[in-house]
Amino acid sequence: MDVNRWRAITVGLFVAVMGIFRLAGAPWVSLPVVGTMLLWLALTGVWHSVLRRASDARRVDRLLTVISVVDLTLAAVVQQLADGTWYLGPTMFLVVIASCALSLQFWSALAATAYGAVAYATLILGEVAGFWQADTSVTAPQLVGRWSSGIEIVVLGWLAMFAAVLLFWGFHDRLQRVHRRFRQLFDASPYFIFTVRPDGGLTSANPVAREYGVPDASVAPFSAILQRIPPDDADEIARRVRAAFAGESSQYEHRIRRIDGAERWLRVTYTPTGTKGQRRVLVMGADITDERAAAAERDRLTREIESAGRMRLVGQLVSGVAHELNNPLAAILNYGELLRAEARPAQDAEALEVMHAQAMRARAIVRDLLLVARASNERPRETASVDDVVRRALQPMAAKAAAAGVHLQFDLVGEVRPQRLDVAGIEQVVTNLVSNAIDAAPQGTVRVTVAATEDGTRLDVRDTGAGIPADVRARLFEPFFTTKAPGQGTGLGLAVTRGIVEQHGGTIRVEHGAATGGSGAHFVVELPMRIESPPEVASPSAPPMPARSAAAATSAEHHGVIRVAMLVDDEQVVRSPMARALRNAGWVVIECGDGEAALAALRDPATPRIDAIISDIRMPGMDGPAFYRRLRREQPTLATRMLFATGDTASEEVAHFLADSGCPVIEKPFTLRELVAAVDQLTASPQSS
Ligand code: ADP
Repeated sequence: MDVNRWRAITVGLFVAVMGIFRLAGAPWVSLPVVGTMLLWLALTGVWHSVLRRASDARRVDRLLTVISVVDLTLAAVVQQLADGTWYLGPTMFLVVIASCALSLQFWSALAATAYGAVAYATLILGEVAGFWQADTSVTAPQLVGRWSSGIEIVVLGWLAMFAAVLLFWGFHDRLQRVHRRFRQLFDASPYFIFTVRPDGGLTSANPVAREYGVPDASVAPFSAILQRIPPDDADEIARRVRAAFAGESSQYEHRIRRIDGAERWLRVTYTPTGTKGQRRVLVMGADITDERAAAAERDRLTREIESAGRMRLVGQLVSGVAHELNNPLAAILNYGELLRAEARPAQDAEALEVMHAQAMRARAIVRDLLLVARASNERPRETASVDDVVRRALQPMAAKAAAAGVHLQFDLVGEVRPQRLDVAGIEQVVTNLVSNAIDAAPQGTVRVTVAATEDGTRLDVRDTGAGIPADVRARLFEPFFTTKAPGQGTGLGLAVTRGIVEQHGGTIRVEHGAATGGSGAHFVVELPMRIESPPEVASPSAPPMPARSAAAATSAEHHGVIRVAMLVDDEQVVRSPMARALRNAGWVVIECGDGEAALAALRDPATPRIDAIISDIRMPGMDGPAFYRRLRREQPTLATRMLFATGDTASEEVAHFLADSGCPVIEKPFTLRELVAAVDQLTASPQSS
């Protein structure tokens, strides 16, 4: 106790001064005086240990009151033994009262002070009354019988005591207020705060600290907290606390299990504090769990935005390139087709077959590229069960699996409800994922699972391969990202897969098989039941190839009906083979280079009645949409017989126009058979007027 120490020092000083007086031969410093003072000094040791054991503030206060009374009594005894050296009294009383006023509560201090005042008055007035007498050898005047002097001394002494108590009480009150304010801050702090003693014990922990499992300071050692912390961190913290006792501050972030069981992250500072004889380490911590989560989320979003930005750029590039490739590809494909239709020597025929196959492959790549760019964003949907679609997609994979010695397994969990799907797209998803899995796990197992979820269907593709390293995982879905040898992979599979899944409002993610109790890679696709269905777009881009165009032509000719088609496209190399194919199919074809030429031809009385118009969308001069709008005003019936041929379904503008007009579209590059079939289909429906 600080107060006790101060009192001990004061009493010690008095004993020392008495000793000096004694040595100097002062007669009033008799042996009994010195003895009593030594006893007094010894008592401070007793008080010290008694106070140390007192647990709460009320007990300490009561003890201090008792100690003050004993002190005052001893002071009076010393005075008496020193033969009424009364002028020592007030000084000693002041010191005693001051020291007790520092720590006593108001009423205890008042009681102690009153006792001191009464004892003092008794001593002085006792001498005046002649009950005891001061030693005349001392310079102090004799008081016996001098009542007015006695009363004067008592009053002055009391005033001095009163002033001292007021002074110290004010000081004490101020201290208390500071202490209260500090306590409020301490208790209301959002940070947890406690201090550690060199022996590993704890002092004062605030309420927040207790939430984090910092135990009751008076009983628990610091090591009790370390049990709530992962062992590696606990060792590090113990080291930092030791370093702080040696004067080194530090900060450390670690996890802790709170008393409610929640695991939280803390940022804790360890600061040396206390005095030289009383070293402490102040431990202050802030809960940074939310901060860390927010930072992680921010990082994730930043990465996503960066990746989205990259993807958008790639998408724009890809869509532009794909679009530009469409017309040349259409010309190659269509001229090739025309040549193939004619009788040729076997060698030429073989070469033409190869050219056709390669052009078809190029067309598939261009379509994939457009898918990556989320270009063909509105594919037709039909109602189907994912498990049916998956089963169908797996059939052709069996051969690839067998060749790689892979065991291909399919499981269905729960009852999968039918949902609106781009069936060809989902087949593509399965093909891409399973194909990658087979590549990754030769001689292994590929497990495909379809399971019903609360709001849709989940598709899992797991393999027993080596899994996906973190650096690959980060770039997995980027277009053109591949780890396969040139010619083995294009790096488009997963980009396309993600595009298709996202068009379904779904998500795709990859997990490491080990985390889900397997090995290798584990892809998870979730397809929600409720998605906004795209506007139904008539899609003659993949019509069944009827062999009936020739038959239809023959029958048309047979019945003497002449069917006239108008072909509007600015690129002659694209238009010509189309015109030839239609003519071969029995159509009369009128070719125009743009919308204005087409309108002019339509207004020309010499032009025969038109049955179908096949128009490009992007053309210099009057483009497809402008032509359509004019036609709708001038010849609304004919406007319902328009088929658009375009390689630009990528742009939103075009997609909107097609959706609004309801006109069918055939995507370039198409085969001539597809074109003829689409035109046949267009005219097969009765003309609405
Ligand atoms: P590609 O198959 O043409 O390389 P993808 O986009 O389909 O393109 O795949 C990109 C890359 O992702 C692959 O090259 C491969 O490194 C990795 N990958 C995909 N699936 C798996 C899998 N099941 N196991 C290991 N790596 C895979």
